[in-house]
Amino acid sequence: MAFIDARTLPADSRIEADLIIIGGGMAGITIARQFAGTAVRVAILEGGGRDLSDTAQDLYDAAGATVRAPDNADRPLDDYPRNSRARVLGGSGMVWGGKCRPLDAADFARRDWIPHSGWPMSRRDLQPFYDRACDLLEIPHFDGAEAKDPERPILDIGADFMAAPVVFSKYSGGVDPAAFERFRTEFAQAPNITVYLHANVTRIGLSKSGDRVVQLDVACLDGPRHTATAGRYILAAGGIENARLLLASNDVDLAGVGNRHGLVGRFFQGHVTYSVDETDLVEGSALYLTAGKPMGRYLNPDRRGAHSVIASDLPGQQRLKAGNFTVTLYPTAPPGPKAGGRGEETIAVGQMAAKLDGAAPLLAGCFLMAEHFPNPESRITLAGEKDALGMPRVKLDWTYSTADLDGLERTAAHFGDSLGAAAKGRFCWPAERRDLVAISTASRHHMGTTRMHADPRQGVVDPDGRVHGLRNLHIAGSSVFPTSGIANPTLTILALALRMSDHLKRQMGA
Ligand SMILES: Cc1cc2nc3c(=O)[nH]c(=O)nc-3n(C[C@H](O)[C@H](O)[C@H](O)COP(=O)(O)OP(=O)(O)OC[C@H]3O[C@@H](n4cnc5c(N)ncnc54)[C@H](O)[C@@H]3O)c2cc1C
Repeated sequence: MAFIDARTLPADSRIEADLIIIGGGMAGITIARQFAGTAVRVAILEGGGRDLSDTAQDLYDAAGATVRAPDNADRPLDDYPRNSRARVLGGSGMVWGGKCRPLDAADFARRDWIPHSGWPMSRRDLQPFYDRACDLLEIPHFDGAEAKDPERPILDIGADFMAAPVVFSKYSGGVDPAAFERFRTEFAQAPNITVYLHANVTRIGLSKSGDRVVQLDVACLDGPRHTATAGRYILAAGGIENARLLLASNDVDLAGVGNRHGLVGRFFQGHVTYSVDETDLVEGSALYLTAGKPMGRYLNPDRRGAHSVIASDLPGQQRLKAGNFTVTLYPTAPPGPKAGGRGEETIAVGQMAAKLDGAAPLLAGCFLMAEHFPNPESRITLAGEKDALGMPRVKLDWTYSTADLDGLERTAAHFGDSLGAAAKGRFCWPAERRDLVAISTASRHHMGTTRMHADPRQGVVDPDGRVHGLRNLHIAGSSVFPTSGIANPTLTILALALRMSDHLKRQMGA
């Protein structure tokens, strides 16, 4: 098994391969696995070691992070860039929840009411790669079969909403450590694969003409520095770090690598959940009620195991001029999700629900998610402050627009109306606009900072994931997502990684 601790190499060693992958997380490992056993010499340069460590994690500290939205107070989230990812072999795969859901067909569409929307591929194009990603994670394919289960009927609340299935993979360091250990190491038994640990890439060096990568600078914490060269390079360092490394590599082009149009770091999109039952701000009143219908498809203890969320579909989004929207339900007990809450709303809603169909009402907790519109002002920039390796730290400005808040409020209201009109339940959502940022909880998904677009003026990478203007640098990971949908990103990261692997294998004759 070819694992090399880069700290043990003589200083100024020169690492050589045909293909170098920067970052051994879910994306980087997935690509390397596709090349295992081929004639292509692959090196992964992984900044972390085998175990999580504070010193490696310190490199992820930011110089500041803030969530902001119109009419809301700014919300500092300075620890978020450190705590929402893991600098270790396997990356955030060491700690992720394993929750998988593909993007919906609507997420890929060009939606006139959402500026900068549209992927250069459709869900149908990506479906074969989603299937392979599911095989890799040992979960069922998302092929619609689950929707036909008569034991788990779909809640019909009108044409604008659908059921979207969610499943969990065991391949996470936090879920099944032994299985994940196999996932992150076994591929390196192939003779053509070498994984360098503690090998932090600190600069992507370009040729004088700036049209190709010629060298990477590699640094070990409190250890030697090296260089690495290959014919081709893939940057797979995660949704924040991909942008950071491109911006910091500014010796040939002052704007950084791949940044001729000033797009690197812009369009940061995150996912947040909105819930008024898990905060002290507004007491327990975000409830979903249905009149005794079988709800096994949606209600899952711990939100674990296969279940569905309620999602808005493309015609619904179009009519409401909104983005994607989901409602995730979970079982809860009366009088409301929050013990000690006021409960008046619960009682009022319960009385309404009791009249529905004459059946016993069922009480459920829920949280909402709404797509974050691509926004050039939502961005990662470099700060003056440096980390222990001399790399500038990032600053995150996670920015929502009025259109984001309008879309969320309109769709939440329409969801409530649709439930009522279908006589399926009642929904109580007493969130004030001025509180939306405060009641949101940030997911650890970082998307959009090196977006994909066929036009170099609108995207950092082309539809194959190659950086515009550079012959031999590709980018893998959620930083290439043009829009973020609401689905947890890792299944899509893997599908795109498999697609890129096929493309590069063809080009490299592997
Ligand atoms: C607690 C938690 C729960 C999550 N739950 C879910 C979930 O349920 N479902 C879901 O879809 N997603 C979830 N995510 C997000 C998911 O983990 C990520 O989307 C996914 O792991 C990203 O994979 P990646 O390989 O693109 O990036 P990363 O996992 O960030 O991997 C990047 C790799 O690059 C290395 N690296 C970084 N910089 C350098 C450098 N300069 N030089 C060399 N190496 C470098 C890192 O050490 C790391 O190994 C969760 C995340 C967290 C933190």
